Amino acid sequence: MSLKLKALLKSPWVFHLSTGSCNNCDIEILDCLTPRFDIERFGILLAGSIKHADVLLTTGSCNRQSVVRLKRLYEQVPKPCLVAAIGECALSRGMFIHSYNCPVPLDRIIPVDVYIPGCPPKPEAMIAGIVKLIEKVKAGQKRKKK
Ligand code: SF4
Repeated sequence: MSLKLKALLKSPWVFHLSTGSCNNCDIEILDCLTPRFDIERFGILLAGSIKHADVLLTTGSCNRQSVVRLKRLYEQVPKPCLVAAIGECALSRGMFIHSYNCPVPLDRIIPVDVYIPGCPPKPEAMIAGIVKLIEKVKAGQKRKKK
């Protein structure tokens, strides 16, 4: 396991990007940072810049305008970068599925590693999703060793 991946799994730094959400999912992400849920106790930190991030938390329905920014940010993030799709909009475009402005779901634009469903998903679901993502990567690394 590379040093970068080892550090990522120990303390993933997350960057939050909204690609056209109603902001409810974003509020739930902020809730994870409050003392009630306090995700920092798991080593999960909110990064201010995409260039410092290990995990990209994406919300929203990927409208035409934000897709350009999403691709540009994904190019800038240091690899390996894990992507979490948060909320129905990011998973399948949710209620915007028939909108002319949201032609494709997130996983057709960039690779997604974990899907966290809900409209909006609860902070507990987000924390469980990130923990599962870390376990998935660890299991993948163990399988590679064998
Ligand atoms: S999944 Fe629901 S709460 Fe989240 S951005 Fe879409 S409509 Fe809003």
